Amino acid sequence: MAANGEPSFRQSVDLMFNRAVAVMDLSPGLEEKIRVCNSTYTVRFGVRLRGGIHTFTGYRSVHSEHMEPVKGGIRYAMSVNQDEVEALAALMTYKCALVETPFGGSKGGLRIDPREWDEFELEMITRRFAYELIKRDLISPAQNVPAPDMGTGEREMAWIVDQYQRMNTTDINGAACVTGKPINSGGIAGRVEATGRGVQFALREFFRHPHDMARAGLKGTIDGKRVIVQGLGNVGYHAAEFLSAEDGARIVGIIERDGALHNPNGMNVQAVRDWLIHHGGVKGCPEGTYVADGALLLEEACDILIPAAMEGVIHLGNAARIKAPLIIEAANGPITAGADDILRTRGAVIIPDLFANAGGVTVSYFEWVKNLSHIRFGRMERRQEEARHQLLVDELERLSSDKGLGWSLSPDFKSRYLRGADELELVRSGLDDTMRGAYQSISQLWNGRQDVTDLRMAAYIVAIDRVAKSYRSKGL
Ligand code: NAD
Repeated sequence: MAANGEPSFRQSVDLMFNRAVAVMDLSPGLEEKIRVCNSTYTVRFGVRLRGGIHTFTGYRSVHSEHMEPVKGGIRYAMSVNQDEVEALAALMTYKCALVETPFGGSKGGLRIDPREWDEFELEMITRRFAYELIKRDLISPAQNVPAPDMGTGEREMAWIVDQYQRMNTTDINGAACVTGKPINSGGIAGRVEATGRGVQFALREFFRHPHDMARAGLKGTIDGKRVIVQGLGNVGYHAAEFLSAEDGARIVGIIERDGALHNPNGMNVQAVRDWLIHHGGVKGCPEGTYVADGALLLEEACDILIPAAMEGVIHLGNAARIKAPLIIEAANGPITAGADDILRTRGAVIIPDLFANAGGVTVSYFEWVKNLSHIRFGRMERRQEEARHQLLVDELERLSSDKGLGWSLSPDFKSRYLRGADELELVRSGLDDTMRGAYQSISQLWNGRQDVTDLRMAAYIVAIDRVAKSYRSKGL
C-alpha cells in the first residue's frame, strides 16, 4: 500500500487485471503467469560531470515475453521507481495485445530530473544508461525495443540508436533497436504526434457509437464539447491541438505543473504551448484565468477530461468531485483502482489507458517494421498510384469532351485524388484503422455481456485473452 491508503501503481494495475480475469475462464496457473512481471533489472552507474562522479539509478522491466521483442518507453523523472516501471511494463503487455502489435511488454526508467542537466550532460548520462542496457540485451532490435515516454523524446532516442550502432557495428537492423527516433536517424513520419493523434482517433470512434455516448450522457459530435486537459507535453499538446483545431472541441482548461488556465470560451492550444515553452509554466499566459492549485481544475464541469500528464492524479481524495461524464486516459494509470470504482459507480465512462494512448506503440510498430524493411512506406507505390489515378481522370475528361457531356472535374477533386499517399498519410491511416478496430472490439464486449461492466474491463479481457492464447500455443 502507498502512504495515502491506496494501492501502489502496480497493485492498481493488478486489481484492474483481477476484475477482468474474474469473469474469464483461465486456469489459476496461467492467470498468475500473465499477471507477474518476468524480470526487472536495476542498474546504478556513475558519470563524471561537473568535476565529480554522479551516480544514477535506472530500471528496465520485462513484464511478458509471450512475443518478442518486448516494447516499452524509457521515462526520465525523479519519481521513477521499480513499482512504477513494473506497472508501466504490465500496461505495455496489455496495450500491445489490444492493438495487435506483435510485442511483449517492457518499460524503462531513469531517476533523474532532466531539467537539471544541460544537453551535453544528458547525452553523457543517456549514452551510459543505454550502454548498460545494450550490453545485457535489454536494448536490441530482436529482444527489447524502447521508445520515448515522459521526459524523453526524439533527441534521447537518437543518442540511444547511435550508442547501439557503435556497440554493434555489423548489425544491419541496428536502427530498429529503439523507436521514436528523428527521421534522419531512422524515424518515421507521424511518430511524435502519434499518441495524441491516437487519442483523437479514439474519441472520434467513441463518438461514432451513439449507444456508448448515451451511456456517458453525451450527444452530438466532438464539435463544441468542453475539454479539460492535464499536461501539455507531447501527448496532451497533440491531443488538445488536434481536437480543437480539427474537430472543433473547446479547450476550457489546461493544467500544468505550476498551475492551470481556465477559460469557458476555449483557448488557443498552440498559444498556450508557446507560452509554456518560453516561460516554463502557464502562469501569466493571457489565454485563460490562472488557477494556482491546478489539480482543482480536474474537478471543473466539462464534457471530456483528458489526464495526459502522469499516474495517480485522480484518486480516492478527489474522485467523488470529478464531474466529467467522459474521461479518456491519455496518460498511463491516471486513475487509481479506488477512484475507478467511485467513478464507475457514479456512471462516468472511462476510455482506458491501454487503449487510449496506444497510438504511440502502434506507430512505433510501423517504425520498427520500416527499419527492418529498410525502405520508407509508400516509396514503391506512390507514383504508380498517381499514374493510375491520372489514367482515370484523363479517361473521364476524354469522355466528357468526346461525348460533349460538358463535365468538368473540380480542381480540388483532381489535386486531392491525383496525389499518391506519402508516409505520413499512410501512418495516420494505419493508426486510425488500429484505433477503430480496437475500440470496436472492446465496445462490442462492453455492450454484449452483462458481466462486463465498463470499457476498461473489456479492454483487459480482450488483451488477456490474446496473451493467454499466445502462451497456450507455445505449450506453456
Ligand atoms: P511529457 O514529458 O512530454 O509531458 C508531460 C507533461 O505533463 C509536461 O508538460 C509536464 O510539465 C506536465 N506535468 C508533469 N507533472 C504534472 C502535474 N503534476 N500536473 C500537471 N502537469 C504535469 O510526457 P508525455 O510523453 O506527454 O507523457 C505523458 C503521459 O503519457 C505519461 O503517463 C506517459 O506514460 C504517457 N504516454 C506517453 C506516450 C508517448 O508516446 N510519449 C505514449 C503512451 C503513453
